[in-house]
Amino acid sequence: MTKVLCVLYDDPVEGYPPTYARDDIPKLERYLGGQTLPTPKRIDFKPGQLLGCVSGELGLRKFLEAQGHALVVTADKDGPNSVFERELPDAEIVISQPFWPAYLTKERIAKAPKLKLAITAGIGSDHVDLQAAIERGMTVAEVTYCNSISVSEHVVMMILGLVRNYLPSYEWVVKGGWNIADCVSRSYDLEGMAVGTVGAGRIGTAVLRRLKPFDVTLHYTDRHRLAPSVEQELNVTFHPTAEALVRVCDVVTLNTPLHPETEHLFNDALIAKMKRGAYLVNTARGKICDRDAVARALKNGQLAGYAGDVWFPQPAPKDHPWRTMPHHGMTPHVSGTSLSAQARYAAGVREILECWFEGRPIRDEYLIVAGGELAGAGAHSYSAGDVTGGSEEAARFKK
Ligand code: NDP
Repeated sequence: MTKVLCVLYDDPVEGYPPTYARDDIPKLERYLGGQTLPTPKRIDFKPGQLLGCVSGELGLRKFLEAQGHALVVTADKDGPNSVFERELPDAEIVISQPFWPAYLTKERIAKAPKLKLAITAGIGSDHVDLQAAIERGMTVAEVTYCNSISVSEHVVMMILGLVRNYLPSYEWVVKGGWNIADCVSRSYDLEGMAVGTVGAGRIGTAVLRRLKPFDVTLHYTDRHRLAPSVEQELNVTFHPTAEALVRVCDVVTLNTPLHPETEHLFNDALIAKMKRGAYLVNTARGKICDRDAVARALKNGQLAGYAGDVWFPQPAPKDHPWRTMPHHGMTPHVSGTSLSAQARYAAGVREILECWFEGRPIRDEYLIVAGGELAGAGAHSYSAGDVTGGSEEAARFKK
């Protein structure tokens, strides 16, 4: 019997939905580039259902209990008295979503001697102390590509929302106004602007592809350069550093994992090198930006707008400055957990678990850590180390 400890976000305040806005979601076979969607032997849910909350259980209970395993699902994840911390000592597998991350710090890993596998139901395993996972010999796996396109759509939405001043204009309508001058005094066209992505992996290149028809000039920086054919197809300019990129861009979108190289990359010094009035969109990880530097830059006009859905820690404390800073378009961490994305990552988690229990290898592209080192996608895109420091502050949300 294996104990599987699964941390999911709370159910909707009005309860688990009895019906949905749509009857189905499109059926996709492959991602661009040929990677197949998750291929579990079967699933016990209907794609389009709410799976990422506690009652949704990622559709895993029947599958796990039929094999005699124990599944514990909770949203209570922060602080020493949380259900997560109480259930952790005899858990062998932890499943967590980046939207509501169960921070697996070095101290928590030390309290869980049986822990062998941490699965990220989504993409981005920075909530796990990867250095401690390497040292313990754990496997860390995520469902690569499952929500990359979901996020890229959100990025395009947020860029347009900021540049065109959408949210403040919407608010005037709700308030009963017709304040056109108020709405448009911060509204521009995206056409002709320079847009750059820091990180041109699955999300970054999908953003470039989606923005190309807007007649913008495209820019990117990355640890590995894109193939010349892709650079030509997108007519995108490579910059060797983030600093070189931000100097020429009107809009910057962040699409790298959070790891020691990218932690607090967008600090006062780098933001000062951006064009005055640039827009910054961060759907990658909150900690890639210095929290207070972003708020300062919005207040003094260095940034014209900031949007994204990622914070540090999560959930963000009620007094987190990004909730109240001017000219922001923040949402809670939702871009990668649309109902469409949930169907893919729930199936991906099931695939990883089937492999684990049957002793079959987990797909290389899903691996972040294995065999005492960064592996698979992790070896390509991460650097070893720990970026969970400060995550205990997430417990303040409850108070
Ligand atoms: P990919 O691995 O496909 O892309 C990440 C890219 O970032 C890679 O091309 C990688 O380079 C590049 N990169 C890594 N470190 C650096 C660095 N120091 N400087 C410049 N580039 C760097 O992942 P995805 O595009 O699918 O996802 C990216 C991130 O987005 C995730 O790690 C996650 O944090 C976040 N995300 C957020 C979601 C949300 O709901 N908001 C959902 C999904 C993901 P290379 O591989 O060439 O070394």
